[in-house]
Amino acid sequence: MDSISIAATDRVFVLTGAGISAESGLPTFRDSDGLWAGYRIEDVCTPEAWQRNPAGVWAFYSARRAAAQQAKPNPGHLALAELESRLPERFFLCTQNVDDLHERAGSVNLLHMHGELAKSRCENDCGAPPVEDHAVYASLSDVGRCACGGLLRPHIVFFDEIPLGMERIEREILRATLMVVVGTSGSVYPAANFVHWARQNGARTVYVGPEAPLNAAAFTHVVEGKAGEALPGLFVVEA
Ligand code: NAD
Ligand code: ZN
Repeated sequence: MDSISIAATDRVFVLTGAGISAESGLPTFRDSDGLWAGYRIEDVCTPEAWQRNPAGVWAFYSARRAAAQQAKPNPGHLALAELESRLPERFFLCTQNVDDLHERAGSVNLLHMHGELAKSRCENDCGAPPVEDHAVYASLSDVGRCACGGLLRPHIVFFDEIPLGMERIEREILRATLMVVVGTSGSVYPAANFVHWARQNGARTVYVGPEAPLNAAAFTHVVEGKAGEALPGLFVVEA
C-alpha cells in the first residue's frame, strides 16, 4: 500500500470535503447527481433562496442538523485527529463540511470554511456573533430573532457568499510543505484552487478518495480509496 512520509520539517495542511463524511452516512452532492440529500442547491443554499423562502431553507438545514447529530465520526476522521496529535503545531485542518464530525473525532486546529450546522447567526450584517444552535425547527415561527430584529439564519456559507477565514487559510497554505485533500470533487471554488496555491509554493500534494477529482492534474500523488479505509496507516511520521 502507498504510504506518505512526513518529515520533522514538514508542515501539513489538510482540506476535507463531503466525501470524508460519506462513510458516516451523510450524503455528498456527487453521489446524488448534484443534489444534496435530494434537494437542488439553488432552492436551499443561496442568498436568493433565503430571501424567497426562509422556511424552506430552515427545513433543509434542520434535517441536515438532525442527520449530523445521528452520525458518528468514521475511521477517516479519527485518522486525521490521530495524525494531528503526532504533529503538534504543524497541522492545520480546513474543512468544507458543515457537520461536526472532525471535532467529535478529536481534531483541534480546525477551520470550517463553509460554516457550521450547529450554529445560527443574524441574517443582517449587524455584527452579532454566531450562536450555538442545535434546534430542529418545525416552523419558521419557532426561529429566534437577533436583538437588531433580524431573523436567525443557519451559520452556513451559501453559494455566492464568501467563505470564512480565507486570510488564515491562505497563510496556512503558504507555510505548508504537504497538502492532503480528502473526499472533495474539486468543483467548489475557491477550495478547488487550494491545491494550485500549494503546488506553486512547492508543496507535495496528495489526494485521497475513490475517484479522481476534477483538479486531479495538480496532485503529485493520488491515493485511490475510501477515506475510512485509505487514511488509517497512510502516514509515516518521521522523528
Ligand atoms: P462533492 O459532493 O462535490 O464531492 C464528494 C467527493 O467525495 C467526490 O469526489 C467523491 O468521489 C468523494 N467520496 C465519496 N465517497 C468517499 C469516501 N468514502 N471517501 C473519500 N471520498 C469520497 O463534495 P464537496 O467537493 O465537498 O463539495 C460539497 C459542498 O457541499 C461543500 O461545500 C460542503 O459545504 C457541502 N456539503 C457538506 C456536507 C457535510 O458537511 N457532510 C455534505 C454534503 C455537502
Ligand atoms: Zn442582528
